[in-house]
Amino acid sequence: MSLDTVSLSGRKKEVSNKKMTFWESLYLVAIAKGLVITIRHLFKRKVTIKYPEQKREFSPVYRGQHMLMRDDEGRERCTACGLCALSCPAEAITMKAEERKPEEKHLYREEKYASIYEINMLRCIFCGLCEEACPKQAIYLTKSKVIVKSNSNREDFIYGKDKLVMPLEMAIQNTNQNKAS
Ligand code: SF4
Ligand code: SF4
Repeated sequence: MSLDTVSLSGRKKEVSNKKMTFWESLYLVAIAKGLVITIRHLFKRKVTIKYPEQKREFSPVYRGQHMLMRDDEGRERCTACGLCALSCPAEAITMKAEERKPEEKHLYREEKYASIYEINMLRCIFCGLCEEACPKQAIYLTKSKVIVKSNSNREDFIYGKDKLVMPLEMAIQNTNQNKAS
């Protein structure tokens, strides 16, 4: 077999330039074949759903939007060490570190904290490496149904602390649940 005839997919077809017959030039057979394919698809199981009325089940290993965690006292866990940014293959994370002031001890758990923490959701591939790299258990990809919303403005995909830090009410709720269990 010569290299010219090898087809990796097995679907290679030789194209010939032979003149069409009268019946071929009417395209009736070709149109009928096309219609048969279309009709056949009408009876196949649909792969699309009517979103947003219908929603698919999330996979148990689904990785949703990131959340910057708080500890049991509601303080931000992140110490702006930068390990998440270093481990990110998409270079999606940027941050700015600040020293914690004495009067801010109730806000930040560590002596250093991220005054700016941003994730570019257009770059992120939701691999979870930032979560694995974090020594403070400060960043998690939410397993629940928190998805990054669609938008037509690129700027809006840069998520800052306002969107990433765990809501205080959620931290209080978690603490109460932990105490009860
Ligand atoms: S999930 Fe992966 S790509 Fe996204 S920010 Fe974390 S490390 Fe980067
Ligand atoms: S989220 Fe974790 S790894 Fe990233 S800067 Fe904060 S403490 Fe460091």
